Amino acid sequence: MIFYSTRSRQHTADATEAVLKGIAPDGGLYTPVDFDQMQVDVGALLNKSAVEISAEVIGKILNDFTPEEMRALIDAAYAGKFETEDLTPVEKVGEDFVIELFRGPTSAFKDVALSVLPRLITAAKAKLGVEDEIVILTATSGDTGKAALEGFHDVEGTRIIVFYPDGGVSDVQKAQMVTQAGGNVGVCAVKGNFDDAQTGVKNIFADDQRSHWAATAGARLSSANSINIGRLAPQVAYYFKSYCDLVLRGEIRLGDPVNFIVPTGNFGDILAGEFARRMGLPVAKLVCASNANKVLTDFINTGVYDRRREFYKTASPSMDILVSSNLERYLFLASGGDFELVARLMADLREKGVYTAPQSLMDAMRERFSAGCADDARALDAIGRVWRAYGYLMDTHTAVGWAVMEEFKAREDNGWVNIVLSTASPYKFSRDVLSAISDAQPESGFGAMDMLHETTGVPVPARLAELRSLETRFADCVEKDAMLGYVKGMISGNREQE
Ligand SMILES: *Cc1c(COP(=O)(O)O)cnc(C)c1O
Repeated sequence: MIFYSTRSRQHTADATEAVLKGIAPDGGLYTPVDFDQMQVDVGALLNKSAVEISAEVIGKILNDFTPEEMRALIDAAYAGKFETEDLTPVEKVGEDFVIELFRGPTSAFKDVALSVLPRLITAAKAKLGVEDEIVILTATSGDTGKAALEGFHDVEGTRIIVFYPDGGVSDVQKAQMVTQAGGNVGVCAVKGNFDDAQTGVKNIFADDQRSHWAATAGARLSSANSINIGRLAPQVAYYFKSYCDLVLRGEIRLGDPVNFIVPTGNFGDILAGEFARRMGLPVAKLVCASNANKVLTDFINTGVYDRRREFYKTASPSMDILVSSNLERYLFLASGGDFELVARLMADLREKGVYTAPQSLMDAMRERFSAGCADDARALDAIGRVWRAYGYLMDTHTAVGWAVMEEFKAREDNGWVNIVLSTASPYKFSRDVLSAISDAQPESGFGAMDMLHETTGVPVPARLAELRSLETRFADCVEKDAMLGYVKGMISGNREQE
């Protein structure tokens, strides 16, 4: 499979190179275009396990790995890490469905991909004979950081440095990161918001591209953000898996299209749904759900992507994003691989903060995508109503999806089954979830966790419950223009120890 940079014709890579590099040298995102080569026979997946489905689907996308290699890699990646063999169980809630993507080690959906990515990277490294240490740089809006730390800690030949926005993540998310174990990990707060941290990381890559300081230190920078295709591929699998579950339970017939409602930030998860559709999964609509930072809702409805707007800190912080990186991949696919168009739109975004997509592209997008947004008040209201009506407890991100689904059904009910992607455990955002179902006023995030458990009886994930007894290991906090120096210091510090 050839992966193209979204920004220029000359930068192509095979799967192993794309996974190892993370981002193309021109700043574009590696994207496959030949979906004919990646078709999946959905019927043939029906009697397969979650792990088998993952290996098959990921193997279609990253086809430099043999099916045997991929199977071994996926087995090892998920073994013993998830609460259930099923990895991503589907629950029926009222007349709709929720796919629970948060049953992994950090209680957020990013575990699904970040359990696999380190294995892909080490396998790619071995295949390409690369000896440099792979240094993973990650900007996080809260969940990626911990899931990446959990995936990479003590993985030989790798190091991971995570930047999170100071004050921009929940108490529990912060505790998860700053207590991370492992000899190859670093965690640092940035004075700024998620976009600042993400831009900072992109600038570090660009700086290294110009002056190659990492190579001089025996290191190679890579990314665990969803700009890495190795992060996206594992997410495609659960779309197929949830579909198979509904066929097996008799809720739909094989071939029926379904709608997926996806709480969206960086557009990675929903883009994985678009990959699944292009790979042969019957998808009616992908519904893009945003919180008050509704730049994507506005884009899908108007064709104008405009990040020049107020940034809101919301109760769904993992979706507090104004520059959704993976949309670039969609623009590339929907324009039939028009590098020049994508490069121009991305330059506009960088220089002017706004771009307008061609009408034809937007028409194509709207056939497949629908969009809506829900602010905190509506999301919390949905948590309360769903809890009271069905005894099902949703987190704040999932609740944005639920509220947008309700609006979607009212606006354009196409009669097909709706599946909401549930992206985090309610216990990761206990304080807000609790406030949606009771009047309790807990002192801390952990107090809220206890009260939420007392109020609902829903079990607390063991790894979250144990957090408060762990020691804080990382207290660094830097200005956004000091991120580069921080990384250089970590890498050269590493060198001196050797
Ligand atoms: C990352 C994240 C999202 C957004 O996913 P994208 O792939 O960035 O669109 C939604 N909910 C939670 C809980 C997340 O951690």
